[in-house]
Amino acid sequence: MTTPSPNATTDFPRKKKQHTILIVDDNRDNLAVLSYLNSYGYRVLVARNGESALQKARDGHPDIILLDILMPGLDGFETCRKLKSHRQTRDIPVIFMTALAEASDKIKGFQVGGVDYITKPIQHEEVLARVKTHLSIHDLTHNLQDQANDLQRMNTRLVKRSIQIETSSQLGQQVTSILDLDELMNRVVKLIQSKFSYYFVGIWLIEEQQGAVVLRARAGSDEHLLPPPGFQLPITDTNYAVVWVGHNCQHHLTNDTAKSIKSLAADTLRPAKSALTLPLRVMNESIGALDILSNRTDEFLEEDEDILVLQTLANQIAIAIRNAEFYKVEQRRRRLAESLEYTGRVLSSSLDLKQVPGRILEELAKVVPYERGLVLLQREDTLHSIAQRGFPDNEKTPLLHISIHSGDIFQRITESLRPLLLNDVTQDSGWRQLDWLPIHHSWLGVPLIAKDKVIGMMSLTRREIGAFSLDDATMALAFAGQAAIVLENASLYDEIRQLNEDLELKVTQRTEELNKAYQILERLDQTKTDFINVTSHELRTPLAVIKGYSQMLNIRPAINHDAKAQELLNGIIAGVNRLHQIVNTMLDVARIDAEGLQLQPESINIHETVKQIRQQFTPALQERSLTMTLADLKSLPDIQADPELLDKVFYNLIVNAIKYTPDGGAITVNGRVVEWTDRPAVEIVVSDTGIGIDPEHHDQIFEKFYQTGEVALHSSGQTKFKGGGPGLGLAIVRGIILAHGGQVWVESEKFDEEAYPGSRFHVVLPLVQPTTG
Ligand code: ADP
Repeated sequence: MTTPSPNATTDFPRKKKQHTILIVDDNRDNLAVLSYLNSYGYRVLVARNGESALQKARDGHPDIILLDILMPGLDGFETCRKLKSHRQTRDIPVIFMTALAEASDKIKGFQVGGVDYITKPIQHEEVLARVKTHLSIHDLTHNLQDQANDLQRMNTRLVKRSIQIETSSQLGQQVTSILDLDELMNRVVKLIQSKFSYYFVGIWLIEEQQGAVVLRARAGSDEHLLPPPGFQLPITDTNYAVVWVGHNCQHHLTNDTAKSIKSLAADTLRPAKSALTLPLRVMNESIGALDILSNRTDEFLEEDEDILVLQTLANQIAIAIRNAEFYKVEQRRRRLAESLEYTGRVLSSSLDLKQVPGRILEELAKVVPYERGLVLLQREDTLHSIAQRGFPDNEKTPLLHISIHSGDIFQRITESLRPLLLNDVTQDSGWRQLDWLPIHHSWLGVPLIAKDKVIGMMSLTRREIGAFSLDDATMALAFAGQAAIVLENASLYDEIRQLNEDLELKVTQRTEELNKAYQILERLDQTKTDFINVTSHELRTPLAVIKGYSQMLNIRPAINHDAKAQELLNGIIAGVNRLHQIVNTMLDVARIDAEGLQLQPESINIHETVKQIRQQFTPALQERSLTMTLADLKSLPDIQADPELLDKVFYNLIVNAIKYTPDGGAITVNGRVVEWTDRPAVEIVVSDTGIGIDPEHHDQIFEKFYQTGEVALHSSGQTKFKGGGPGLGLAIVRGIILAHGGQVWVESEKFDEEAYPGSRFHVVLPLVQPTTG
């Protein structure tokens, strides 16, 4: 029999480890095998009885046990049974050593868990061979077991990895396709939580302005235990894992949440056992944390690459959040721009002061979300609400009137001309809470500035603490600029409208009064015309009688021979003639008023007509040393006109020229052919060097009974300087000229009784009368 070389251990090149053999035998002689096995490099332990064997098997971790059957105390079978019943020693192969050669003993040995049998007296080589074989089988089994375990682990890891890859890819898709920040975060936490069956997944974001780390999205298996979205932790309390991670930009791991620094697991989510908090990193800066809790212990291991994979997910999420935030800001900017443009257009299209403020609040809500809003106009030290939105029972809420006190929030805005943002009104001494209004913690006040002056402000509130951002304030201010202009315009328009209404009312009242006065005047005028008509008719008969008798008297020799009587009679005759003339004039006027002038047109030579009239006035012209020149009249063509009426025209114009020109003055009558409303006509101008007429009276002098002189100056002398008459001459002139389809007007620089600027009466008459032409 060859003794295997001590180097035989190299038979197991995969296992370099030194094997330990426990030999259990009460007989010292049998232990000689000990040194033999030692020489083959085995570590040998010895036990002298069953109890000691159990102890050494537990403590010494033998790879194989050589067990004697016959021993005092626990025998070999019993010892083996006990070894097999302990978890720690169950797998150690046991080889029985005995002199018993009975088959039944051998069978019993196998039954209690032995793997082999060595018969005493012991053959060293046999022992060595069996030991080697069983160690080798044992090692192989172990190896196989290890390999199976490895495979199992690898499989688990692969499954996990595939879930991670799937999640990551789904996450990738979602984060690029969803731009709504809240929706994005909610989807992400749900996805991670369901894919990995975590107990809780939450996204916390750092909100510097609110001084808090805020839970923005969460998902978990214990729905009822979940803290509400918006749940906050103070930004300074780094005892909380999420705050710590936010500060340090590193992950935090605990596998015993009871002992860890504070987390939701310690507060509300007690079933959680392990917690992994990962920073949401953008450019080496943390914007918040991804909080993962598991109800399995040791879910995350520091050396595990899971953390790396989850951190990659967290990075992906962080970038997506930042993008969504940028998008949100961008969206808001765009909405603001659109809204400003729209507000400008829509609001200025309505200038109704009752509607504009309400619309302002409506439009503003699209740019800066708020829950309660007011538009206030300032009058002295009081702010008067002109529109409110979001109040309990809004329609019925009375419009608010808020007086401004020194140091309060409203005064701060009025003084600074800047928006004021309160994250929590209960922390501000300048805040006054109305008892009947439910408290809203966040407040944003924005001044309405028009022409560098605060005309009022907009007050916006939200229920939660720190709900408005600086961005909101900037947006609201930009909006307020536009709103202030629109409000200012609307109130100006309102003022103008009010003034207009007042004015219109006054105009209507005045018109009514004028109408009444006009009607009275018309009645008076009619009465006057009737009076003239009646009087002149009534006067004509007695006048004719007086005239007849005086003419009869005039031829009586008794009168003719009595110079005094003749003089008196001449006076009567002159007076009667004048009266007759006046009565005729009055009749002409009455006829003109009644539009009863009947034209009897004939061909008329103007030069002749005027010449004859001048003839009549020769004595007067001489008496007053006046010259009267008829220039350019001869060349005028004859015209169609009523000769008697035309006589009256020139008679009146010339008599006026004589009357209103001082002694020694000059009267000229000019004429020329003109085009008059596309018809041939003559224009005759009677000029004098008299007192002139104020341009203010140029139209009025053609009205009947109109005189610029004083009634006291009236005299019966028809051609006396400034003699004055009844004020009917020019009214008759105009009536006659209009009846001929012509026009009359006067030109004179001014009325001046020293400088004598003179007057020029223009008469235009068509050559032919339409009816006769
Ligand atoms: P009257 O009987 O007063 O002359 P008229 O109708 O002829 O009435 O004239 C109206 C008024 O026009 C006169 O009272 C006078 O003041 C003014 N007037 C008319 N003709 C002249 C004139 N040639 N120069 C200055 N004033 C004149």
